[in-house]
Parts: sequence; structure tokens; C-alpha cells
Amino acid sequence: MAEKQFKIVLLGEGRVGKTSLVMRYCQNVFNDKQNSTVQASFQNKRLNLDGHRINLAVWDTAGQERFHALGPIYYRDANGALLVYDITDNDSFVRVQNWVKELRKMLGGDIVLAIAGNKSDLERNRVVSQERAEEYAAQVGAKHFNTSAKLSKGVNELFLDLTQRMLAAG
Ligand code: GDP
Ligand code: MG
Repeated sequence: MAEKQFKIVLLGEGRVGKTSLVMRYCQNVFNDKQNSTVQASFQNKRLNLDGHRINLAVWDTAGQERFHALGPIYYRDANGALLVYDITDNDSFVRVQNWVKELRKMLGGDIVLAIAGNKSDLERNRVVSQERAEEYAAQVGAKHFNTSAKLSKGVNELFLDLTQRMLAAG
């Protein structure tokens, strides 16, 4: 049976944990001193789901999000997007809304969206309420997840759900 290929792009401010989520999901590792420069533009993850063989290309930025523009190659042919904010950083949540606008501009409406409130292990420092995040996610047709790349919480669930929705979208 042929392998289905899907491209997922990660979006969000610097330091929210995008690279850490990709590393956790694709390689099951976590680095406390995750460097802002990464070599590869994407990592592959293979999985079997509902009788399908799937190959995910999970695209990560190399720090260009600082300039608030990632360029068309980054977005091209993406099937899904994962918008990440840090639950302890209100600005990073506000910025998610700009990333959603940027996505729509680059890709139109046809993309499966997930939003991750990352660093859930720092719950005591939370400043973005879950209700607010979920309300926003519903508004833009996204699904919201709490994640901790550090403790490996919610990460597999998020990618699995995103993949299931990309499969359903065809
Ligand atoms: P990026 O700039 O969005 O790619 O963020 P990074 O993955 O480089 O992470 C930025 C910093 O946050 C690093 O020091 C990570 O170790 C840390 N970090 C990432 N995810 C988590 C998490 O789930 N919990 C905690 N406590 N720290 C995290
Ligand atoms: Mg990074």
C-alpha cells in the first residue's frame, strides 16, 4: 500500500518550544538548552494509522520567526499547521493570531489547524487561561492542546489528532 505524505508546518514566536516539540515527537528527546538554530528544515515521522501508512514531514523554522515572515517555501503544500505559544507568555499567545492571518494569506482556508499551549509543566506560571485559548481555537476552526515537550505530555496526542484530521481532509 502506498504511503501517504503530509506536510505539517510549525508556527509561533521564538522560544515557545517549536523545535522542542518536533524533537520530542520525531526523536523522543528533550534538550534544556535547545538551540535556536537547527540544521534540517524538516524531520520525518512514519506511522500507521487507521490502516494507512503515513509519512509526516514536520517543518520547523531555523529562527526566522524573529522577522515574522517565513517565506513561501515554508508554507508550500502544507496539509496541517501547528501554532505554538507558551502558556507563561501572553505575547506569544497574542502572536498566534498573527500567525493564523499569515497562514491564511499564504495558503487560503484549506489547512488543518492545531494550537499547542506548550510548557504545561510550568502550570504555576500560567498566564493564558485554557478557556481563552480554547475559545480562540474554536473561532479559527483549530483544536487546542496543552503540551509539555519537556515531560512528553500531550505531544503524541496532538500529532495523532492532527494526522487523523489531515487523513479525513484527504
Ligand atoms: P523555539 O524557539 O520555539 O523552537 O523553542 P525551543 O524549542 O528552542 O525552546 C525554547 C526554550 O524553551 C528551550 O530552553 C527549551 O528547553 C524550553 N522548552 C521547550 N519546551 C518546553 C516545555 O515543554 N517545558 C519547559 N519547561 N521548557 C520548554
Ligand atoms: Mg526553534
